Amino acid sequence: MQLEAVYHRPKLNWAYAYDEKTIHLRLRTKKNDVSEVFAWTGDKYAWDDTKELIPMERACSDVMFDYWECEVQPPFRRLKYGFLLKNGDEAWWMTETDFLQERPKVPDRLFDFPFINPVDIFKAPEWVKDAVFYQIFPERFANGDSSLDPEGVLPWGGKPERDNFFGGDLQGVIDHLDHLTELGVTGIYFTPVFEATTNHKYDTQDYMKIDPHFGDKDTLKKLVDLCHERGIRVLLDAVFNHAGRTFAPFVDVRENGEQSKYKDWFHIREFPLNVKDGIPTYDTFAFEPMMPKLNTEHPEVKEYLLNVAEYWIKETGIDGWRLDVANEVDHYFWREFRQRVKAVNPDAYILGEIWHEASPWLQGDQFDAVMNYPFTDAVLDFVVRGTLDARQFTEAIGRQLSRYPRQASEAAFNLLDSHDTPRLLTLCEGSKSKMKLASLFQFTYPGTPCIYYGDEIGMDGEQDPDCRKCMVWEEENQDRMLFDFYRRLIEVRKSNPALRTGSLHFLQAEAGGTTLAYERRLGDESLLVLLNNDATIQTIQVAQPDGSWKDEFTGEVYEAKRGRLSVKLPAYGYAILVPVK
Ligand code: CA
Repeated sequence: MQLEAVYHRPKLNWAYAYDEKTIHLRLRTKKNDVSEVFAWTGDKYAWDDTKELIPMERACSDVMFDYWECEVQPPFRRLKYGFLLKNGDEAWWMTETDFLQERPKVPDRLFDFPFINPVDIFKAPEWVKDAVFYQIFPERFANGDSSLDPEGVLPWGGKPERDNFFGGDLQGVIDHLDHLTELGVTGIYFTPVFEATTNHKYDTQDYMKIDPHFGDKDTLKKLVDLCHERGIRVLLDAVFNHAGRTFAPFVDVRENGEQSKYKDWFHIREFPLNVKDGIPTYDTFAFEPMMPKLNTEHPEVKEYLLNVAEYWIKETGIDGWRLDVANEVDHYFWREFRQRVKAVNPDAYILGEIWHEASPWLQGDQFDAVMNYPFTDAVLDFVVRGTLDARQFTEAIGRQLSRYPRQASEAAFNLLDSHDTPRLLTLCEGSKSKMKLASLFQFTYPGTPCIYYGDEIGMDGEQDPDCRKCMVWEEENQDRMLFDFYRRLIEVRKSNPALRTGSLHFLQAEAGGTTLAYERRLGDESLLVLLNNDATIQTIQVAQPDGSWKDEFTGEVYEAKRGRLSVKLPAYGYAILVPVK
């Protein structure tokens, strides 16, 4: 047994309270090096009466390691624990300080989870894990009020450029809510809607005002109310890392330099404000002079922005915030942000834009979730780019699941494209079969799936600005078959709780392989998902007790016989199988 590879530490993703009664313990071992692991647990003040050996399950694996997991419900909410690792005749007891061949006599040196304090538990809003989101870029979704159109507006459907306008607005979204209801989505994430000079509105001029080309506060309020009537939640984009060049306090600094009372609202290295060799004399988003970074440590800035966050929840009833460039803002700010936002709406969803591993923000005191781009990469690498085989794909997924407490995975925001990437269909080089396969995985995986507007009717688009085309509304130009696929996929996810919060077990994923089989299980409910990521017909065989399974898409029934289920799938085919009772 390679003890150097064995890892555990208290808290974080290794020992955390899942809910007010339950602690999850995890242990890492070298891959395929250990055959059995037990948690040795008890109450530190009543060890002899409570001590117990609990078997751990190999929950997931990545390239080098296996991750073992178990659930414990300590009666007094305290837990002392160690581990017992076995392989053949070899057995080791793991304490906080040692590996021992003999069972330790007293629990003194074991790990300690001192107490489950409810306030410390990571709790994302319950509704999030059941939600299906739809991302809207408001300037390009629908023009519902031409009286608000910006000067020089272009005819709907023209070529998107970095600086042109097509007149999309909030009334346009109101006019097309039937489209969203028919599709079945239950949440909208809007990119920014506050007053700004650009078409993407990430250069905020006034955080307290809806962009006049989009509508006003009343239009937003009406939109939110109508969404709520349809069971759709609304998320707005909070661009708090930086403001826009025309944001009044920044204008004041530009005009008054060091004399400005707002000079400390920003990070200014040198007056007067200038750009030298492409580098601004003040901190910005990237090196973009029109997006000056806000000093979120400054009490006035903090108060101003936190008030903005509260204001739009109170005034319009929105259901949460997506936080732009969230990783470049200080943690203290986000901790206060969470307190203030949850005080006005305990059910608000706080979603950070972080493109990489995000554990420091997902401990329960800051965000409920992040935009899960590592998930995006894994799926695209497997289905689209072909750089991962089936085994490597499950290792990439296992790696992600092992990094977070389970509640973070259940609330993760899983996207395959956005306004910041080429569209999924374009990434798939026009292959709708691959697009469907990638989406099928997305919708049968824990977390909240999000569809980027227009993907569902077959829109394509290269990297920004091309991915921000005007939505196609003429039915004859929409791919209605594709729309039906997404509608059905959402329906299947909604009617099978195991697809949302069930455990995930890969049943088949060979090195060099292109087929994948996995089980989602919740209580007595179990589903099988089969994917053929290959340009040829493949037969997938998995060990299953005898019984019948029905394909949720085709209705076809398959029989598991003599302990084996065999399903033939066309190129890039898939099946979501439910047991026939
Ligand atoms: Ca308009």
